[in-house]
Amino acid sequence: MRFEDILDQDTAKGILINSIQSGRLAHSYLFTGPHGVGKIMMAKALAASLNCPNSSGVDGCGRCVICRQIEQGGYPEFLIVAPEGNNIKIDQIRELQSRLCFAPAIGRFRIVIVDMAESMTEEASNSFLKTLEEPPQNNILILNAEEADDLLPTIVSRCQKIPFRPLGVQVIAGFLEREKGVDGERAAVIAKISEGSLGKAISMLEEGFLETRDQWLRILGQCFDQPKGELLETASKLVSSLKTKGRGKYKIGGLTDLLALWATWYRDLMVLKQGGGEELVINQDFRRTLKKVTRRYNIKSLVAILSLLDQAQRDLRRWHNPLLVMERTILGIVKLGPEPQPIN
Ligand SMILES: [Zn+2]
Repeated sequence: MRFEDILDQDTAKGILINSIQSGRLAHSYLFTGPHGVGKIMMAKALAASLNCPNSSGVDGCGRCVICRQIEQGGYPEFLIVAPEGNNIKIDQIRELQSRLCFAPAIGRFRIVIVDMAESMTEEASNSFLKTLEEPPQNNILILNAEEADDLLPTIVSRCQKIPFRPLGVQVIAGFLEREKGVDGERAAVIAKISEGSLGKAISMLEEGFLETRDQWLRILGQCFDQPKGELLETASKLVSSLKTKGRGKYKIGGLTDLLALWATWYRDLMVLKQGGGEELVINQDFRRTLKKVTRRYNIKSLVAILSLLDQAQRDLRRWHNPLLVMERTILGIVKLGPEPQPIN
């Protein structure tokens, strides 16, 4: 794994390469930014740079046993602590600390990653703080978190902060085409919905998100033919079949994703309504349907629907009652819905 193999993230790369070349590495770093934008790959590039016997001074050689182990997993001094269940627990931190008592068995530096560090329990955080206060020699500690604000300020203040940014749509779409053999149109749809996270884009692909999307758009379309009682039933079915926040690290397939997807639909209608270029449409493969539907909306109702969806996403994040949120949203969308088609 070399720094140049990592997509984008020039700021983060620049800071780390500079520290390596000047010999001024920090004991602990805080990598902030969305999941799935290259934080662990960056840590691997750092590990290879510091431990490869043939290192160029910036990058590992990529061919020796050490470089290959770091890249593929199995390098004994590259440790990742990740949540077990919902949290990183104090026992996990204690186990880590007992390993840090010993110098690295091979290589110059042990690299330790605390992934999703914001999921540390309070006890775990306080215990880990002690390690940060007296960092053991020849270890580089890396905390990964979406936002620094989610961690104890005392932890943040002991780390050098390195920001990671969401990746561009083109970068993600290009990767899906090149490495995963996805056709251009579908790659663009996933890239646009993935919120700049390559990890999320790959998970969406693997979990068949495009099929889920078709189903969710169908459900939205059917709402316009349903009487109020059935609409409430639709809301209730969605709430019971989808979790509020979705599954796994990338929270895929939950109600917030459903609402985000519906929002892309109305954003597309808005783009076309305002005469924007077709290339700006997210749901490229539905261009023809979108063009037909947009004629039946006016801008005012599209704006109102988009703000309704936006509000619903925020309400779900704040743990408002999901059933009430979905009922209100679906009834609102239908009320603002398309004008009846003229009979020719
Ligand atoms: Zn090497």
